[in-house]
Amino acid sequence: MSILRLTFLGTSAAAPTLHRNVSGLAVKADSHLLLFDCGEGSQRQMIRFGTGFTVDAAFFTHFHADHYLGIIGFLRTLGMGGRTETMHLYGPMPAKKVLDAAIHLGVERLAFPVEIHELKGGEKLDRGGYSVSAVRVDHRVNALGYVIEEDVRAGRFDLEAAKKLGVVPGPDYGKLQRGESVKAADGTEVTPSQVVGAARPGRRVVISGDTRPCAALTEASAGADLLIHESTFSDDEQERALETRHSTAREAGKVAHEAKVKRLILTHLSSRHDVDFKPLLEQAKQEYSGPCEVAFDGLTLEVPVRE
Ligand SMILES: [Zn+2]
Ligand SMILES: [Zn+2]
Repeated sequence: MSILRLTFLGTSAAAPTLHRNVSGLAVKADSHLLLFDCGEGSQRQMIRFGTGFTVDAAFFTHFHADHYLGIIGFLRTLGMGGRTETMHLYGPMPAKKVLDAAIHLGVERLAFPVEIHELKGGEKLDRGGYSVSAVRVDHRVNALGYVIEEDVRAGRFDLEAAKKLGVVPGPDYGKLQRGESVKAADGTEVTPSQVVGAARPGRRVVISGDTRPCAALTEASAGADLLIHESTFSDDEQERALETRHSTAREAGKVAHEAKVKRLILTHLSSRHDVDFKPLLEQAKQEYSGPCEVAFDGLTLEVPVRE
């Protein structure tokens, strides 16, 4: 995988505001385009922010209305656009019931196949070059967080070292990269460890969905390149956070600190913090010293390759 690009389609909790749409995140993983949640209006955000519509799969964190209603309209737009490829929809129970109703609502019939897959925490989907794993989180309803993880990448090939050792340029380079020894021009054996560096861990992005801070998610986030954590409330709304099973910015910061993630992005803001989100940022930063920001609709970022 070379490209890992994220575009925030919606960053508001519960209902859209003037500045923020409800939850949606587009992830470009090489040639694949994935959606993580698809709140009402997500398709228009995809047009605004230029993500394209060639979505391979949509992953739902849970079935509160602000996270899935957008799939109803989006699937119909794809149908009108002549899509023929299968769309895969993933989510926790009752994904089958809810998404089946969403697909069949109204009088038109979709001209392309849609497959609905229910996921449980701990399940991992291998997607060729990367995986998506589900993590059971702690919300008012059955809910999942997701981990996108790039496969381990082969070590860097040291061209200079190969030349110095007399390896013949061509197929032997590939053999060494794949872990096979080769014979140099003078007949001496050259082993992969002489020219190929240590394997490099893949990039890892964690998406909390709606949740209280929870151990499973902290564990899944350990050392992640990026944690996208919900941050619905501020310190003075702690009680509300407990009642509604959401997190405060401070709690999101604590998770990021405990998991030693490389970067934290706060999203899913209550309308109270729509414009004035500074308190959220400050409270999170009191707990987490790494790079931390509040997402906005249209925020697009590339996750850099690990070296
Ligand atoms: Zn929500
Ligand atoms: Zn929710």
